[in-house]
Amino acid sequence: MNEKPIFVTQSSLPPIEDFIKTLGTIWDTHILTNMGKYHQRLEKELLKFLNISNISLMVNGHMALEMALQSMEFPQGSEIITTPFTFVSTTHAIVRCGFKPVFCDIKLKDFTINENIIEPLITNKTVAILPVHTYGNICNYEEIDKIASKYKLKVIYDAAHSFAETVNGIPVESLGDMSVLSFHATKVFNTIEGGAVCFKDKKTYSKLYNLKNFGIQTEEIVSAIGANGKMNEFCAAMGLCNLNYLQAEIDSRKMITLYYDEILSHRRNILIRERNSEIEYNYGYYPVLFSSKKHRDDVYIRLKENSIFARKYFYPITADHQCFNGSFNNINLPNARLASDCILTLPIYPKLSINEIERICDLIW
Ligand SMILES: *Cc1c(COP(=O)(O)O)cnc(C)c1O
Repeated sequence: MNEKPIFVTQSSLPPIEDFIKTLGTIWDTHILTNMGKYHQRLEKELLKFLNISNISLMVNGHMALEMALQSMEFPQGSEIITTPFTFVSTTHAIVRCGFKPVFCDIKLKDFTINENIIEPLITNKTVAILPVHTYGNICNYEEIDKIASKYKLKVIYDAAHSFAETVNGIPVESLGDMSVLSFHATKVFNTIEGGAVCFKDKKTYSKLYNLKNFGIQTEEIVSAIGANGKMNEFCAAMGLCNLNYLQAEIDSRKMITLYYDEILSHRRNILIRERNSEIEYNYGYYPVLFSSKKHRDDVYIRLKENSIFARKYFYPITADHQCFNGSFNNINLPNARLASDCILTLPIYPKLSINEIERICDLIW
């Protein structure tokens, strides 16, 4: 078997000339970071592109999550209701900021938090809900909003999978009090490494600015205990270049998704996702749910033996990771554990050819 390997994704790059052009300015000014021209321009362009009011660029999605949480100034030990069916970053951010994750189960139809079982998890220590728009499926934001206003909780969405999506015409980044984006190389839109916090309250901008820039006000005044979370000029320039091709990127991903759907919807014993006509997707992921863990693992190995690298994304659930020493193992999370055991995300990126899609699907049974 000497066919070329197929990985789960391939990072998007603009035409090299586009990026080289941006480097000229950097070489002229010698400004490599510290909220330079490209950083400012990318913030402006993203506000326009996403049709939202407030954004702060960050060094990566994870620090964006941590700084979003820190900007809320919750008491240490506060409880945050969240989902265990996510990339480990979501849970790590909560724990690293000194809060307690309270895990809520998910719905199998779209893998997002089950809003109907959030209320019983609320205690007098609960301060926020941190759901994830898993694989670009948007959470039930209307119900989550209702619960949040009833109990005066903040809502912070991990929107790392849902860049530039809309639901009922609303930009996903404008949901909740804050939405956190990742622009990691493997995401639909990348700045090599990068991320952002989008937020409702204008005053948050200076709080986030302090957190990402050591709390420096002037040369002699440091008014907050911040860290370093700044996006540098090279990354911002890459973002500006990639933004020009984003619609084409999403269009190709959509075509690939529809082709997968056409083939796989006829297969017995596997489930592909239900799509919701209210959502304008970015087609970042192609998750498939198999009939059992063994079924999933068999397909994963068969693909691997043929140099096709699908991902068990997310397996295990974050609550069961070794670093938590079993402290969350007894929590009842049947749907999250089932999804985690049976899920496989298939390769998807604009350059994936029809032939390659067929090669992948031929190995799925
Ligand atoms: C990618 C991702 C993150 C972390 O973003 P980085 O930019 O890699 O730090 C957080 N949450 C989810 C759901 C992600 O997919």
